[in-house]
Amino acid sequence: FQRLRLILGDQLNASHSWFSERNDQNLYLMMEMRQETDYVKHHQQKLLGFFGAMRGFATALADAGHKVLYLSLDHSDNQQSLLNNLQQVLGVINSNKVDLQQPDEYRLDHQLRSWAGRENLELEWFDSEHFLTARDALKRYFPNKKTYLMETFYRQIRREYHILMDGKKPTGGKWNYDHDNRNKLPKDHQTPAPKLFTNDLSGIETMLHTADVASFGNADAEKFLWPVNRKQSRQLLDFFVTNCLEDFGRYQDAMATNEWSIYHSRLSFSLNTKMLSPLEVVNKALAFWQSNQDKITLAQIEGFVRQIIGWREFVRAIYWHHMPEYKSLNYFEFDRPLPAYYWSGETKMSCMQQSIQQSLDYAYAHHIQRLMITGNFALLTEIDPDQVDDWYLGVYIDAIEWVELPNTRGMSQYADGGIVGSKPYISSGRYIHKMSNYCASCHYDVNQTTGEQACPFNSLYWRFIDKQQQRLQDNHRMRMIISLWGKRDPDDKKAILAQAQQHLIHIESL
Ligand code: FAD
Ligand code: SF4
Repeated sequence: FQRLRLILGDQLNASHSWFSERNDQNLYLMMEMRQETDYVKHHQQKLLGFFGAMRGFATALADAGHKVLYLSLDHSDNQQSLLNNLQQVLGVINSNKVDLQQPDEYRLDHQLRSWAGRENLELEWFDSEHFLTARDALKRYFPNKKTYLMETFYRQIRREYHILMDGKKPTGGKWNYDHDNRNKLPKDHQTPAPKLFTNDLSGIETMLHTADVASFGNADAEKFLWPVNRKQSRQLLDFFVTNCLEDFGRYQDAMATNEWSIYHSRLSFSLNTKMLSPLEVVNKALAFWQSNQDKITLAQIEGFVRQIIGWREFVRAIYWHHMPEYKSLNYFEFDRPLPAYYWSGETKMSCMQQSIQQSLDYAYAHHIQRLMITGNFALLTEIDPDQVDDWYLGVYIDAIEWVELPNTRGMSQYADGGIVGSKPYISSGRYIHKMSNYCASCHYDVNQTTGEQACPFNSLYWRFIDKQQQRLQDNHRMRMIISLWGKRDPDDKKAILAQAQQHLIHIESL
């Protein structure tokens, strides 16, 4: 072989130009490695999903006539680390030429770049041909600026790719239809049952068990429910546009007991492994909307497009602009340990129990559960953002650092001091009650702020405002609530703060 071409576990892009022609002089290398199973404790389904999808991709490449070397975790030649494996394979094929696609994760990028400098290698870097924007998009879209608005970024991409545009104007005359969206699920509303797959990944499960790879969460490896190849990913996309797009935005923020995905697409795993491309997803949704405009309103399609070409590209740009410093930002200097129920689901708070338990069962929670339940609680209880990150990075099937970190440390924990979000996403029980039916079956009473049955979110919310008012007083989006707190009766305030303190002391038994 003349060249080695590395394919990382999240580079399963079958449409990449590398594969447009066969060349027997190129050897494609894919590897399952302990450095990847062990950099954080992963959910079982995440390990199974990634290895399952990688194996499927390697088989499809080989079937198409490409030369592939796949090192499984239990392969006798596997050195279990990226650079050692690369070095070893180059020795065996007697070559010093390596082609690489830009990794999306800083950790891997750093590893490969430091290797490139050290050895006598001929390295060629390629784009992963997946995203709509480049890594340095922030510099391009916001020259000489220190703050960046997702909305500005998103509009720019809409213009550049001519998505939902009529000439130079946004389709329908408005860029954003958010306020038509975000309703609670009506009582007795029937959501479509999520489309699940039944992949048999028990061989991988046995291998992980034998290798003693630490993991958590639940899985049925014989009926693995996530898509593990392009065909299944496209089926899930079809299912989404046909059954869920119609109500996507409307119930985007809704939560309900025993409903784990509502109208969400669950496409994040297929997207983040690159089995699907963002443009393909958006084009499919747009085409379906165009031929079903009697059923699907502009607000629904715009709400979906915004997530994929707006938020997803934006958080990636934030990540690359601010790494590696971003990973250690801790604006509020919080340092409490993450309560044990994040790992077990055993809590009396119904909203937390539901959101955590479904995360353990499906390696999935939708955005508002991540942001306004588990994230909100971690922020109100002053949890160390490192521990919060480790949990989010491990628990979700779609969690890769470039997308997890800005969402967790930035949007959810405000540990970046406002780079991603314009204010901390915190709420009392009232918002949770408004958007869900969780409170109806809770041990606590959402209408009480003090007393034995009082919903913990209520007093903890006011304590947060009280403690952080100095830091946040210049934030115009926080001013009103800070001023409301300032006007409360001093005795009430005292009682609320004392209640919150009790919750914090007994946090493990909430
Ligand atoms: P849908 O609701 O159907 O949305 C469609 C798609 O839009 C998603 O598949 C995703 O690709 C994209 N999208 C929507 N919101 C975001 C966002 N804020 N950032 C990036 N992409 C977005 N997403 C991940 O992919 N990986 C993560 O590790 C991750 N961690 C998160 C941690 C926290 C604390 C929060 C608040 C959000 C996180 N998100 C993460 C963003 C979002 O919650 C998930 O992308 C979404 O829940 C995935 O489910 P879905 O495919 O059903 O999404
Ligand atoms: Fe969550 Fe409070 Fe509602 Fe219970 S009462 S479900 S803790 S918001």
